[in-house]
Parts: sequence; structure tokens; C-alpha cells
Amino acid sequence: MKERPVVLALGSNLGDRLANLQRAVNLLCGDGLRCTAVSGVYETAPVGGPPQDDYLNAVLLGRSGLPAGEILQLAQAAEAELHRVRAERWGPRTLDVDVIAYGDEISPDARLTLPHPRAHERAFVLVPWLEADPEAVLPGHGNVAGLVAATGTADVRRLDDVVLTLPPARPREAVT
Ligand code: ATP
Ligand code: CA
Ligand code: CA
Repeated sequence: MKERPVVLALGSNLGDRLANLQRAVNLLCGDGLRCTAVSGVYETAPVGGPPQDDYLNAVLLGRSGLPAGEILQLAQAAEAELHRVRAERWGPRTLDVDVIAYGDEISPDARLTLPHPRAHERAFVLVPWLEADPEAVLPGHGNVAGLVAATGTADVRRLDDVVLTLPPARPREAVT
């Protein structure tokens, strides 16, 4: 299948948050998802849910030819690997991976809504995404730069002393 751009939003507010995000990157990037960029790391106040610690958030960009359902499976497998426990809605978690967009696919499916239905109003998604791709467009909502201008950046703080790194890309098998 033709490759399309994938946008994943990562969040963690339990345990070693930075290590959790780096493990997520290592788990997610591979043959099924060819990662191309990762944003800086942002500290953000929790939105909704019970009182809980601040999050670290980042956005991971890649390209994939997988069906959308399999991208969600990759995301959920990474969450499971980090022992995420689903206790209450929007509760604290070691890892949350949301599929923000997959190409220009639009789907109202409750199991995988595309684009993510709350991404357009979330500075903790939009600001790192814009950093990783200044040209980014959220299907149905327009330029991410314009959305950032609307949400503002007051709720997110970039941590300038830490970085996430992409695992080295494995050489693609020669096409014969
Ligand atoms: P929010 O979706 O508001 O960010 P959340 O990330 O805390 O909240 P979860 O408990 O992680 O919500 O996910 C609930 C369900 O959302 C998942 O079981 C999944 O099937 C569904 N879902 C629908 N659309 C998406 C999407 N674009 N990315 C990830 N999960 C999605
Ligand atoms: Ca989420
Ligand atoms: Ca989620």
C-alpha cells in the first residue's frame, strides 16, 4: 500500500516520564512505521480527569503503508508494553499514544476516529507537532500554525535540556 504520513502524540505522567517517551519511540518506530521526526519534549498541565501530575508530551512523525487499524494496534501495543492501566477516563498513565492523523483519512469510527477529534484544540499536541513540521496541516481544520495561534502556547513549556532520539533506520531490503 502507498505510504502516508502518520502523526502520533505521546504523553506520560507516571514513573520516569522521559524514559517512557523514549521507550515508546523505540517501540513504535520500525518496519511498519518508518519514523521521520520527533519533536522536542513539552511539560504540560493535565487536561480533564482527576487531579494528577503534569505530563511530558511529544509528537512523533512517520510514514506507513499499514491499514489505519494496525497503526492503532502499534500504539496500543506500546501502551501495553509500558504497563498502562486503564483505571478511569483521562486518568494518569505511563504512556498514552494517540493517532492524530493518518494522511488525509477522515473517519468517525469510535474505535479510531481520524483525525483525532480533540487534537485541534490541544496545545500539547499542536505545539510539538508544529515544531516537528512547520508545514503541518490537520485534515478538516487547516494549518497547525493557525491552530496554535488560536490555542496559544501558555499551557505548554518546552524542556530545552532533553531530547528524544529516533532509532537508527534499518536499511530497506533491496528491491529486485
Ligand atoms: P483522549 O482521546 O481525549 O485523548 P485518552 O487518550 O485518555 O483520551 P484512551 O483511554 O487512551 O483515551 O482511549 C480511549 C479509546 O479511544 C481507545 O480505546 C481507542 O479505541 C479510541 N480512539 C478513537 N480514536 C482514537 C485515535 N485517533 N487515537 C487513539 N485512540 C483512539
Ligand atoms: Ca490522549
Ligand atoms: Ca489515547
